[in-house]
Amino acid sequence: MRFNRRLKTLGIVFSVLLFTMCLQVFFQQPYIENVSSRKADEDYLNHYKIETVFDDESMSLKGSQTITFKNKLNDDFENIYFHIYPNIFKNKKHIPFEEEEMQYAYPNGFNPGWIEIIDIKEKNQRLYYKVMGDGETVLRVTPQMPIKPGEEREFLIEFEVKLPNVVARMGYGDNTINITNWFPILAVYDQQGWNLDPYYAIGDPFYSEVASYDISIEVPSDYIIATTGNIVKQQSSKKNKTRYKMSAEKVRNFAMILSKKFDVKTANVDGITVNSYTLEGQKSEEALQVALDSVAIFNKIFGKYPYQQLSVVASDFFLGGMEYPNLVMIGNQLYRLEEDFPLEYVIAHEIAHQWWYGIVGNNEVTEPWLDEALTEYSTLLYFEEKYGSHIKEQIFEKMIKAQYENFLALKTDKGEGILRSLKDFDDSLEYSSIVYSRGALFVEALRSEMGDKNFYRALREYYQRYQFQNVTTMDFYNIFEKNTDKKLKPLFQEWLKVNIE
Ligand SMILES: [Zn+2]
Repeated sequence: MRFNRRLKTLGIVFSVLLFTMCLQVFFQQPYIENVSSRKADEDYLNHYKIETVFDDESMSLKGSQTITFKNKLNDDFENIYFHIYPNIFKNKKHIPFEEEEMQYAYPNGFNPGWIEIIDIKEKNQRLYYKVMGDGETVLRVTPQMPIKPGEEREFLIEFEVKLPNVVARMGYGDNTINITNWFPILAVYDQQGWNLDPYYAIGDPFYSEVASYDISIEVPSDYIIATTGNIVKQQSSKKNKTRYKMSAEKVRNFAMILSKKFDVKTANVDGITVNSYTLEGQKSEEALQVALDSVAIFNKIFGKYPYQQLSVVASDFFLGGMEYPNLVMIGNQLYRLEEDFPLEYVIAHEIAHQWWYGIVGNNEVTEPWLDEALTEYSTLLYFEEKYGSHIKEQIFEKMIKAQYENFLALKTDKGEGILRSLKDFDDSLEYSSIVYSRGALFVEALRSEMGDKNFYRALREYYQRYQFQNVTTMDFYNIFEKNTDKKLKPLFQEWLKVNIE
C-alpha cells in the first residue's frame, strides 16, 4: 500500500498526499472547448429517483431507478449511456488497484462485487440495452425512438448490486459499508461526445453533471447512515428495518456510508450543519473541529458552500480520503494515528474538494489537475489561514516540494506538464507527484505572478461563475488571465504544456 511505502521513504507527514485520491488528458492539445453550448438550459437538472433495499447478509442492494433525462443538445440521441462502476470489482483482471495495493484493499482475500442490470423500460416497454466497455462498466440504453433536442424522457432501470469485501470506495470492511459509485449514473455528453472512460486504477476516474436526487433506502435498524442527501423522512417497520428518504439538489453523485458503530457529533458553521462520524469516538472532536474550520475558511476565501449539510465520515478505506458531494470518506486508520496532522490534512483536502469537484466540476479523467492541484493548494490555504503563513510555508517546502523532488530523484519527470489524462501516468506515485505536488507548485507560481489580491479575486470569480457546471482548463485560464495585467500564457504553457491561442 502506498501508505507504508511512503512511510519508509518520506515519513508520515510527507506521505499523506498520497492518501488523497484523485486523475488524465490530451496534454498537447489546446483545450479551447467549453461548456457554453449548454448554458441556455443550465437550470435543467436530470433527476434520479431510486428505491432500494440493503440486505446485510448478502451484502447486496436491490434497486429500482427512475431517471428523468433531457436532451439539452442539438443532436438526436439514438442511445444514452450510463457508467455502471460496481462491475469493475467483478474479477481480478479489472479491479482498480495497483499490484502492491491488493493486500490492503482485500484484507480477507479477493472478493467480487458487481451490478446486475435486470430490466430497463420506458413507459412499460422493455428497451434494448448492452453492457459494454473495459470491465463492463458502461451501459448503453437504446430508446425505441431517438431522443430529440429539448425532449424530456423517463427510463426505469432495475438493478441489483453486490458489494465486495474491499476497503475501497465501494465495498465493506469490519466497520463500515461504503455505498458509493453504486447506481447507473449518466455519462456526460460534451464536445468530445459521450465520455465513457473506464474505471482507472489511478486517480478518481469520474465525470458527471449535477442532478437532483430522491433516494430511499431500507436498512436493518441498527445501522447509522451518513449520506449525501438531506434525510427528509425516517420510518421504522416491524421487522426491525428502517427506511430513509433522502433528497439532494445540484449534486454530481450520491453516496451513503453505513455502520453500526458510528458515533456522530454535529455542529453548525455559517448556517451549515457539519456532521462528524467516527468509530468508537476516536478523535471525534478533533475531526469535527477541522471540518468546521475548513468550511469556515473555504466559505471565506472561495465563496459560500451552497448546501445545508456536510458529513465527514471515518470509513474502512485503505487509501486515506475520498470526496463525494456533501460527504467525505476518511480512512479510519488516520484517526488511530498519534499525530493529528495527517487526519487534519486529509479532512481539509477532501472538504476543499466540495468546492473543486463537487460545486465546480470537471472531467477528472482528462483534466485531473483542475480539481486536484487546486484542492491540494486549497489545503495549504487552510493551514495558512488557520496557523499563519509560516506553517503553510513549512508544509509547502517540506511536503509538497519535497515530494516532487523525491519523485524526481526516483524517476525523471518526462516533462509533459501537469495537464495530462489519467491514461498518461505510469503509476500512482507519478500521478500524485505531478498532479498534486507539481500542480500545487504551479498554483503557488500563479499566485506569486498575480499577487495575492488578484489571485484571490480570480478564485472567487472562478467559483461564482462556474458553480454547478463542468469547467475546462481554458475556463480556468480565462478567469485568471482576466484578473491580472500580467501575461499568464507563458506560465500556463510552461507548467501545463498546453497550447493557448
Ligand atoms: Zn483529492
